[in-house]
Amino acid sequence: MLALHGTGAGKGIAIGRAYVLQRAGVEIPEYVLPKMYLKDEVARFKAGIANARVQLEDIRNHIPRNAPSEAASFIDTHLLILDDKMLSREPIDTIQKQGYNAEWALKVHSEALMTVFEQMEDPYFRSKKTDVEQVVDRIQRNLLDIQESSHEEVDDALDGSIVITDDVSPADTVMLKHRSVGAFVTDFGGPISHTAILARGLRIPAIVGLHGAARYIRNGDELIVDGKRGVLIIGPDKQTLKEYRQRIRRIAVLRQELHAIRKSPSVTIDRQRITLLANIELPDEIRSAKKVAAAGVGLYRTEFLYMNRDDLPTESEQLSAYMRVVKSMGRSPVTIRTVDIGADKQVNGRAEKRGMNPALGLRAVRLCLHDPTIFRPQLRAIYRASAHGRVQLMIPMISSVDELHQVLEMIRETKSELKREGRAFSTRVPIGGMIEVPAAAVAADLFAEHLDFLSIGTNDLIQYTLAIDRVDDSVNYLYDPLHPSVLRLIQMTIDAGERAGIPVTMCGEMAGDIRYTRLLLGMGLRAFSMDPTLLPEIKKVIRESEIQRLMRQAKKVLRATDRAEVQAILNKINTTPHH
Ligand code: PEP
Ligand code: MG
Repeated sequence: MLALHGTGAGKGIAIGRAYVLQRAGVEIPEYVLPKMYLKDEVARFKAGIANARVQLEDIRNHIPRNAPSEAASFIDTHLLILDDKMLSREPIDTIQKQGYNAEWALKVHSEALMTVFEQMEDPYFRSKKTDVEQVVDRIQRNLLDIQESSHEEVDDALDGSIVITDDVSPADTVMLKHRSVGAFVTDFGGPISHTAILARGLRIPAIVGLHGAARYIRNGDELIVDGKRGVLIIGPDKQTLKEYRQRIRRIAVLRQELHAIRKSPSVTIDRQRITLLANIELPDEIRSAKKVAAAGVGLYRTEFLYMNRDDLPTESEQLSAYMRVVKSMGRSPVTIRTVDIGADKQVNGRAEKRGMNPALGLRAVRLCLHDPTIFRPQLRAIYRASAHGRVQLMIPMISSVDELHQVLEMIRETKSELKREGRAFSTRVPIGGMIEVPAAAVAADLFAEHLDFLSIGTNDLIQYTLAIDRVDDSVNYLYDPLHPSVLRLIQMTIDAGERAGIPVTMCGEMAGDIRYTRLLLGMGLRAFSMDPTLLPEIKKVIRESEIQRLMRQAKKVLRATDRAEVQAILNKINTTPHH
């Protein structure tokens, strides 16, 4: 028996036989063509793209009926990339002007594009690089006429098996689900890659980033994939198999319980109502939010509208995206966060100079105030969308009250402008600030005076408090939501909101992690916003908790003097049953 450790991507456990599926890397030829053949070469390049479209559309038609909405949107992302002139214009130019073959022209250009993606700070956008890579790989295989371009061709032997492979594209993930694989394990990929997100959505147990696993495995070997812990067990002994079979049974019972409480209210044992909201990035994700009966959208990240393009999204483009979300949420609130780009997350065509510390640079609201041509159309679109439902406006990365005053002034100007033009909008859009910079947490009371709600962004708050780059693997081990300084800042924010009589939400990853739910309830948090797939588990914890007890215990956690003591008290909080 051998256990290998990677990164758990899709939760759940699978026991099955190995199916090793190694794809050989594609060798890209380089040659120069005589002028008379260049027209045909451009046509060949375009045909490669056209074939890729046919293949992706075919995969889209195979998406299982019960697949989450993300499945289609991932394929759509690939189709959009395929459509993007950025991908085809330069290679065509290289073929026409320099006479290179289509494969080489595409390789040279895509490598330049990858470098841009690699320099992006935000892990979410950096993970987009993988999508572009996968699309480029698909076109290359078409150009080179390589048939086994993906796992689509693989036969029914996959049913129930555990696929061991180098990498899986989101499109392949859908096909793996379609062929009922038990689980998959890849050499590459990280926990927030599209493939990982999709595996979670499709409920396929998966481990990513397990380099070289295939070296230890032969086709047909018995394997266990523990997707939650990221552990792959090769040739398990009897005792281990027995333990895992028991865990599978327990997970099945838990799933039934979660399904059963889908429509139940989110209340604690002592009848305290807790608001559970969804984080979304694409309008389509509203479907997942509604499926788990989220009380609204606590964080609508709008960055997506600005990426993969040369220009800025127009006001009307933004308006239609926001309206889709707002209308489909009916009477439930939708919190639209103004765009969080900048520093090295460049808006194409408007590259800001990159500083030494991009996370400390001109990003989010700083960039918006610096360049009103970005901010104004968004504010106008958000307000115009407010005529169609319950919109809330949220400002990211706010760090000084002066900054807040400037934003509020621009909002006033936007409203007068819209009024002059006779456009419909709500005069009662609640305005909130994200508390994600320590300065804002320490002085949360000063911000609360001018705002209608606060929302704690723990992803950045932890990064800035502990001086840990959230995208740097080498310091990941220091990223700790339970660090006493982080807990104190969260407590200060909750208390400031309570004193000012305004709601405080948490929308960072910590809000969707059941290890912290009881502690946060005890600290006074009453609204949590998270990835919709996590919402039922959080609701279950809430329904099994008694706030009065937790308040006493949370105080003990805040008084603890070292990290080990914090952990010990928390373990007790999380394991003690409440009645
Ligand atoms: C956060 O920082 O916690 C947050 C929710 O914002 P983002 O992850 O988009 O930076
Ligand atoms: Mg943030």
